[in-house]
Amino acid sequence: MPSPLRGGIAPALDAITEADLRRDMFAMGGDAMRGREAGTLDEMRATGWIAERAREAGLQPAGDDGTFFQWWPMRRSRLSENSQLSVGGRSLRMWKDAVVLNAQNGTLDLPIVFVSDTAALRSADVRGKAVAMVVAPVPTQPLDQFTIRGNFQATLSAMIRQRASAIAQAGGAAAILINDGSPILNTALDATAALTSRGQYGIDSAGAPTGTFARAAGGAGGAGGGRGNAGPAIPTVWLRTGMLDAARASNARLTALTFNETFYYPSGNVIGVVRGTDPKLANEYVLFSAHQDHDGTRYSVNGDSIWNGADDNVSVSVAVLAAARAFVKHPAPRPAIFIWQGAEERGLLGSRWFVGHPTVPQSQIIAVLNGDMIGRNNPDSAALLGAQPPHKNSNALVDAALRANAELTHFKLDTIWDRPTHPEGWYFRSDHLPYARAGIPAIMFSTLLHPDYHTPRDEPSRIDIAKLAKMTQWMYATGWIVATAPQRPDVIPGFKLER
Ligand SMILES: [Zn+2]
Repeated sequence: MPSPLRGGIAPALDAITEADLRRDMFAMGGDAMRGREAGTLDEMRATGWIAERAREAGLQPAGDDGTFFQWWPMRRSRLSENSQLSVGGRSLRMWKDAVVLNAQNGTLDLPIVFVSDTAALRSADVRGKAVAMVVAPVPTQPLDQFTIRGNFQATLSAMIRQRASAIAQAGGAAAILINDGSPILNTALDATAALTSRGQYGIDSAGAPTGTFARAAGGAGGAGGGRGNAGPAIPTVWLRTGMLDAARASNARLTALTFNETFYYPSGNVIGVVRGTDPKLANEYVLFSAHQDHDGTRYSVNGDSIWNGADDNVSVSVAVLAAARAFVKHPAPRPAIFIWQGAEERGLLGSRWFVGHPTVPQSQIIAVLNGDMIGRNNPDSAALLGAQPPHKNSNALVDAALRANAELTHFKLDTIWDRPTHPEGWYFRSDHLPYARAGIPAIMFSTLLHPDYHTPRDEPSRIDIAKLAKMTQWMYATGWIVATAPQRPDVIPGFKLER
């Protein structure tokens, strides 16, 4: 179908190759990158790797101070490993011997009362005491098949929180949950320690998330922190089987000196630009967006402790690199700017930072094409988020994406996941969100969830490279249409996300 647009729908499609995507996928998603956890040297290694690829691709630096980089301080607050804890006179090492939940700064010194189960809470005198009980496993998925919905956080760790909640409602001042002899419970304790010990992440200058936005502040997948708790939160200590006798001894006490610590370390965004060919449009940037981070190294599953995040989100990181090569090969009238954000998994932090501290004026960003997870599931299906009300904030931008798909990639588009009633709330879980909240036309490309999401099985070998190439073409062609259109995309009046 002939295109009325200057240069056709996508003049440098041949710059996007499966060979490049595969090479970049296995490099950035490989074990050497160790899962790219935000704020660690592993993320920084990926940040440097992307900047090198961006330079090789021919992008101009568009970060801070004439570099490809934008570094920003990520705040982390966590329970200090130097907190002290003892049960029945035995001191416990934080996160090794014990998982501690709901701890505040301060001291505890409480008598322990032992109960057989939650039913016994009704008859026991637990008010103001530390209440101990043994816990048995509830059904969970086999370790090598677990998904984020059926993993330890959703099952065994949730069971621990429910027990603690029952103890709180009965008037207990603290909860002590002790594993029975099941090995799976000790594995679950280790897994929960790996997540909970990380604490909370944020950025000071971007303010606290509120409203609907706060619901998604864990990033896609979240950190599995203290959410989903019903009832009052009391200090909760989760222990291994070996602590049973100490907790049960007569006159046993729970003592604790717990304190939180806050520190800052860098995460980073990589930003590069291809200048446009029309000087009159030089201040109208089309922005391509990916996140570079994932979950790092965590507990081991079948001997694999590296959470590669190949789909999430190496897939889009390498797609944006490929789209950048296409714009370098054939620049559009408008400039195209490319950003790889840090710390998305810690609460969309890199995109929040950039929107608060843009390296080009925010009003000059005319469209955001974000992607998250574009290399899995049925080869012929995909989703466009932000394409229907109330998430849709630009008719022209959505039309551009639909047209690119209709003329070029022919994906059968899912329309369910973009609905406000969809339980996953997918629209709220990636980096386009802070841009949309700032009133910038924004869409998100995705091939949606799969069972390997946020597990160590999200490996490069499981990526459908041919599909990834097609998704890359779709993103590129959409950006090309916007970058060549007579007008910048509209913003739907009155659009707001909180509702
Ligand atoms: Zn993601």
